[in-house]
Amino acid sequence: MQNSKPLDAIVVGAGIAGLYAVYRLRQMGLDFQAFDAASDVGGTWWWNCYPGARVDSQSYVYQYWFSDELLEEWDWSERFPAQGETEKYLSFVADKFDLRKHYEFDTRIAHASWDEATALWTVETEAGERYTARYFVSCAGMLSTPKVPPFEGHEKYQGVIAHTARWPREGIDLKGKRVGVVGTGATGIQVIQTIAGEVGHMTVFQRTAQYAVRMNNERYTHETFQKWRDQYPELKDKVHHTFAGFAFDFYLPAWSEHTPEQRRAEMEKLWADGSLAIWVGGYQESLVDPAINEEVSEFVREKIRAQVKDPVKREILTPRAYGFGTYRVPLENGYYEAFNRDNVDLVDVRKTPIERFTEKGLVVDGKEYEFDVVILATGFDAGTGALARMDVRGRDGRSLTELWNQDIRSTLGLQVHGFPNLFTVAGPLAPSTAFCNMTTCLQQQVDWVADCIDWLRVHDKHVIEPTAEKENWWVSHHDEVANATLLVKTESWYTGANIEGKPRRLLSYIGGVGNYRDICDQVKESGYEGFAVA
Ligand code: NAP
Repeated sequence: MQNSKPLDAIVVGAGIAGLYAVYRLRQMGLDFQAFDAASDVGGTWWWNCYPGARVDSQSYVYQYWFSDELLEEWDWSERFPAQGETEKYLSFVADKFDLRKHYEFDTRIAHASWDEATALWTVETEAGERYTARYFVSCAGMLSTPKVPPFEGHEKYQGVIAHTARWPREGIDLKGKRVGVVGTGATGIQVIQTIAGEVGHMTVFQRTAQYAVRMNNERYTHETFQKWRDQYPELKDKVHHTFAGFAFDFYLPAWSEHTPEQRRAEMEKLWADGSLAIWVGGYQESLVDPAINEEVSEFVREKIRAQVKDPVKREILTPRAYGFGTYRVPLENGYYEAFNRDNVDLVDVRKTPIERFTEKGLVVDGKEYEFDVVILATGFDAGTGALARMDVRGRDGRSLTELWNQDIRSTLGLQVHGFPNLFTVAGPLAPSTAFCNMTTCLQQQVDWVADCIDWLRVHDKHVIEPTAEKENWWVSHHDEVANATLLVKTESWYTGANIEGKPRRLLSYIGGVGNYRDICDQVKESGYEGFAVA
């Protein structure tokens, strides 16, 4: 199919950002078409339906703020809701605002190219359908392209291999099965703690130990949730100004202003809160000062050690490869206890990596481990992955994939020089899941994009693109902030280190959500200074 009259916009993604983008563009009266590769709305929360998937942000801030009616109608049942409830919420939003009708589901975009002469994007689906549109709004997700490790013999293996981000919707029967799990990031931790009691036997292959913090979950009834609903006006404002888009912020004084006893007491308080506040609401200097970071790291290590009975497993599970908080802190609920079970083994694959698949399982250090199911909780090609595999061509046919294969650049994470009218919500170099409560960041970024398109219409303009100078300014500012932290020293998806050959740069802006919002607002208020507008 080819649309006869060019559309105003094409939107990719039916997750938190995509649904909100569709809502905003429709409100503005735009003619647009939206797509998602999934069969329904939900984005991350549709794909990641693996056992134990759960939100690590408090429900009362992990939501949309744009409709008072929606806020009134939806009750969260837990402080940290499970994937099913979050997916249900997004489905409720789609129904309430009649958003599904704007989507073609089960449709992946294969190519997108900018035509200078007509100032239009042509977007082609994998099935060969072509659409032309003025604006191309990608809400394709920061963590949506699964990373599958290139173990040899993949095709030989006779059992089931499942990547957590491509978990079958009908589930996998793990009862009594021999299961291997590769990966102990935020995802692997949730899977392991959830299936340990169900599987016959589980072997966990760990390369890097994590600083997982005990989640303090809480169930709500309609009545008990009311305490949060009563605070919505305050929360709605607050999340836009805190460092990481949560309801809490770095509230503690400088490390040196507290005695060791006071620090211990504060960290115990943060630990007991059982949320990400211990990370992005504790001692901020812990993210920049190695000595302080080591003390905080040791506090968490102590908590971990206390939970693991077996000394060999305890040693393997004690994180040392990096400092606390320099990579996403996962919340756990029974992860360390899972290793106290007789049916759960742990194999350290840091020095002796997984070699290959065989017909029956995996080989490490010459030893074959036999499994009925191998679960790959091996993460994502983050930030750039979704757009890079779409084959996006900008001015003069330049390739976004090639650009990002050499140097990951953007302006505010929202546009890229050389790619006019392309908007990259949750793109690299914007604050995102690494250091942001995602719903806060995504709504702010979608608002910026929608306001920008609206501004162009009001001013009878049709094309916008950041200049090379503006992009250099943003990249330098981003790097300056990033390089002052310990994060750039840790090997993880945060810096692209999990993907072989990917250029290194901190993928998320770490100057603070409130600060980023102010910068975006200034750009808008200046009439998009530093952007070429035509
Ligand atoms: P991840 O943090 O990148 O973890 C991937 C894991 O797979 C790591 O343990 C990694 O080890 C391991 N791995 C990769 N390749 C391997 C190989 N060849 N051999 C052995 N191990 C290998 O991915 P993730 O756990 O899916 O989490 C990604 C992000 O998604 C999180 O950081 C978080 O932002 C988000 N997330 C959020 C939630 C939530 O809110 N509840 C839940 C899950 C995920 P190395 O560390 O040694 O590379």
